[in-house]
Amino acid sequence: RFITLEGGEGVGKSTQLKNLHSALAARGIHCEITREPGGSEGAESIRSLLLDGDDSRWSAEAEALLFAAARADHVEKTIRPALEQGHWVLSDRFLDSSLAYQGGALGLGIERVRDIYRFACGDFLPDRTLVLALAEGGARARARDNEGSDRIGGRPEGYHQKVDLAFRLIAAEEPDRVRIVDGSGTPEEVTQRLFDNLSDLF
Ligand code: C5P
Repeated sequence: RFITLEGGEGVGKSTQLKNLHSALAARGIHCEITREPGGSEGAESIRSLLLDGDDSRWSAEAEALLFAAARADHVEKTIRPALEQGHWVLSDRFLDSSLAYQGGALGLGIERVRDIYRFACGDFLPDRTLVLALAEGGARARARDNEGSDRIGGRPEGYHQKVDLAFRLIAAEEPDRVRIVDGSGTPEEVTQRLFDNLSDLF
């Protein structure tokens, strides 16, 4: 099974990735952890192009294509081979980050970014996508927008609020694959919620 974990920044995604990995291991499920942008040698090189440097160097279209190029390599070199060996794969971000960040927030449009993905990866899709979100996600996103903080510079106004909205829109469009999971409460509670949203895949 291929599982992806998504969410805006500061929702505890990194902690939950580790916790979910342990929870699956405790159930006897061997799961490989990977991340985006990156996850293969070529894709990690593209990650440096995207994240190193303090300002945005890329046009929105170029940025979306770089993410897609990295993803094509990541799927081919890392994810598919692991799945073919019968392992589960858990990725820290995947397609839906591109739909939300480049499609929703940068203004390229979710459908156009889906088209780029289809060229890059065909009909390959995660079996389940868990989007960590907080009820006060909108407020947090607003605060981040006011701070002007993103690891990629030069983001337009209202950027993080649009990311938050886009994730909710995508989940509404594909309710079977994409689940919004409440990130509030103790880390253990959140892990349990994530885990529960995978139980039909065991
Ligand atoms: O939180 P994380 O370490 O995964 O963040 C990676 C950075 O890459 C964040 O600043 C996020 O905004 C950005 N990103 C993006 N578009 C993507 C994936 C990540 O802008 N498709």
